[in-house]
Amino acid sequence: MSKESKRREALVYHAKPKPGKIEVIPTKKYATQRDLGLAYSPGVAEPCKEIEKDKNNAYKYTNKSNLVAVISNGTAVLGLGDIGPEASKPVMEGKGLLFKIFADIDVFDIEVDTKDPETFIETVKNIANTFGGINLEDIKAPEAFEIEKRLKEELDIPVMHDDQHGTAIISAAALINAVEIAGKKMEDVRIVVSGAGAAAVSCTKLYKSFGAKSENIVMLDSKGVIRKDRDHLTPEKEYFATGRNIHTIEDAMKGADVFVGLSIADIVSPEMLLSMSDNPIVFAMANPNPEIDYELAVKTRKDLIMATGRTDFPNQVNNVLGFPFLFRGALDVRASKINEEMKMAAVRALADLAKEPVPEQVNIAYSETRLNFGRDYIIPKPFDPRLIAKIPPAVAKAAIESGVAKIPITDWQAYEDELND
Ligand code: NAP
Ligand code: MG
Repeated sequence: MSKESKRREALVYHAKPKPGKIEVIPTKKYATQRDLGLAYSPGVAEPCKEIEKDKNNAYKYTNKSNLVAVISNGTAVLGLGDIGPEASKPVMEGKGLLFKIFADIDVFDIEVDTKDPETFIETVKNIANTFGGINLEDIKAPEAFEIEKRLKEELDIPVMHDDQHGTAIISAAALINAVEIAGKKMEDVRIVVSGAGAAAVSCTKLYKSFGAKSENIVMLDSKGVIRKDRDHLTPEKEYFATGRNIHTIEDAMKGADVFVGLSIADIVSPEMLLSMSDNPIVFAMANPNPEIDYELAVKTRKDLIMATGRTDFPNQVNNVLGFPFLFRGALDVRASKINEEMKMAAVRALADLAKEPVPEQVNIAYSETRLNFGRDYIIPKPFDPRLIAKIPPAVAKAAIESGVAKIPITDWQAYEDELND
């Protein structure tokens, strides 16, 4: 299909038969005058009064418990950059569609017209009561760090900036498995991270939670290696600054075990790849074009373990493996936040699931004959029907054990069955 046909297909998909991708559908009967008297005045006053007495009753009588806000200001949309709130709406609606089809969570997408972090925080705080959770989306770094930190502190519902943590969770699961396949240990691997934005910082922090050592990590941004002797570093960059005698990406790649790219296309050369250690792990996740072309990379190193952000190559690091299931688990125990323990539980559950035999329907969905744990299959595929029954329970359990769950789950089998329905 030509580029122009693809463009038109995408536009028609969004325009027809109704503009946009999601709509609101009533969940109660509305056929008779009696139904309407319950749905609206006078019946509606009763749940209002119950909620006035106790705000928690909103979870009982409104859609709050299954409603997530996908909120953006449009300042870092896909690879498109700062395109503004209106132009970001198709992405936020798309996220709504994914929440719904993968985890049956309803979404209101909200596009806020401000670049000022304080105004953004105030806006979200003022509307937060409507929702059971908040998914922040496509907000530029470093503002995104402060916005998420403050909202997590000041709200008592789960708040997650998906561009940071979604990618971190999926790529950490992939990294754990890749390191195992390479016959190495997280504690020992030398990691080069290209990029120091929202995704790179949060990914690298999570790899550390799984054993990666600061002294083995070198991070680069658009100005080169982030070194301790560089001026004007943001706190996030300062945290990863190296004191080692490494000045270029070429220096950093020599003997490295892992390359993590969350930056821009085509900055890794075959020579750099050849200078990496045996069984090199390359997660080239710049979208739409990775830090090194997939075909070029696999041609250069036969012992490569590679992942990208793309659907057309093996090992896609796709956030859809994370956010629907994290929020499902968090909402189901009414967690007050999504904390490290919950994210780590999702990582472990995803990494473990990749090692299980793959159901035939997944092979069929991806036109594969036999997906099997190994170099070309280090993380589950998004259309794996086991995800919904495996990831939310792991997240919910971690929420309960870490003390942020407001309602318990005791019958785990019943919960899994319910998720499978
Ligand atoms: P971001 O916050 O804008 O960060 C981009 C980072 O890349 C910045 O730190 C920037 O440096 C750095 N950079 C730019 N040119 C560079 C170069 N030549 N060498 C090294 N670093 C360079 O964006 P983000 O949200 O973190 O996303 C970054 C990339 O990852 C995008 O391509 C995005 O599509 C991709 N991504 C993929 C996935 C996925 O596959 N699932 C998920 C999230 C993000 P400065 O700090 O100096 O500006
Ligand atoms: Mg995003």
